Amino acid sequence: MSEAKPAKKRGGHAYGRRHLQLSNTAEEGELCLYSGHSLGRFSSHSMRYDSHQACTRCVAAAREGRMSFDIDRLLKKHRARALSFWSKVDIAAPDECWNWNGCINPRTKQPQFAWRRNGISTSTQHHPQRVAMWFTWGDLGFTGVKTTCGNKYCCNPFHLIPQHIGVYVDDDSYLESFELACQLHTLRTQVAEYMVEQALKEQEKLDQSEEIDARAALILDPDTGFGEKFEAVMTDLLAGRHSTQIEPEDPGLYREPTDHGEDADDPTKDF
Ligand SMILES: [Zn+2]
Ligand SMILES: [Zn+2]
Repeated sequence: MSEAKPAKKRGGHAYGRRHLQLSNTAEEGELCLYSGHSLGRFSSHSMRYDSHQACTRCVAAAREGRMSFDIDRLLKKHRARALSFWSKVDIAAPDECWNWNGCINPRTKQPQFAWRRNGISTSTQHHPQRVAMWFTWGDLGFTGVKTTCGNKYCCNPFHLIPQHIGVYVDDDSYLESFELACQLHTLRTQVAEYMVEQALKEQEKLDQSEEIDARAALILDPDTGFGEKFEAVMTDLLAGRHSTQIEPEDPGLYREPTDHGEDADDPTKDF
């Protein structure tokens, strides 16, 4: 019997391979979501099983039945996304279902969470149960995940079992684990803080849009005197927010620089 079983790569969507047994050969792959899972201190790659693109260290942890809710174990650049994810989940008691409050695809009625994971999947939308698995069981790539409760909107990791990688599940010890209870408490607090922060940011944007409308009305009003217009433009220029300073190619009144979220995909950003 041969020892190593490399993945038999097939065509089609990567998620289609989730039903196969995990291979036991690994290759250099995308950096794991968790800190300390890179090949070396300064490497931007992790070892991943070639069949499911599951991080070998995360698989080892899952096989020992280790699960965590600790956001701080993630690389810094993924923490905000984790909080954004959990803020859309009804985090209830450990033995209850945690329903998904986020986006539901209007056509397929499937719950979904937007995340571009280069090197793992070409999908930009993932099932929240898989994302919940990534943030608790580990970065297991496109390993399949099943629920013990049969609720397709449930994101309670205690109800989620990663498939075909041989995880050890010990419900009793999870429910009694003091460490998990503490982590869960911390997570709830962090999510609450995150939501307040987001609400404040939204409010700030609203406040700003009023200011922008007022400025646009002033500039476009034919009755505004030259002195007033000059003052408005100079104030904007000095504050670095005049349209010519922000988007010279695309003139308009009072724009904000656009964030395309590209930093999230830069693996070297953390160092
Ligand atoms: Zn990992
Ligand atoms: Zn459930």
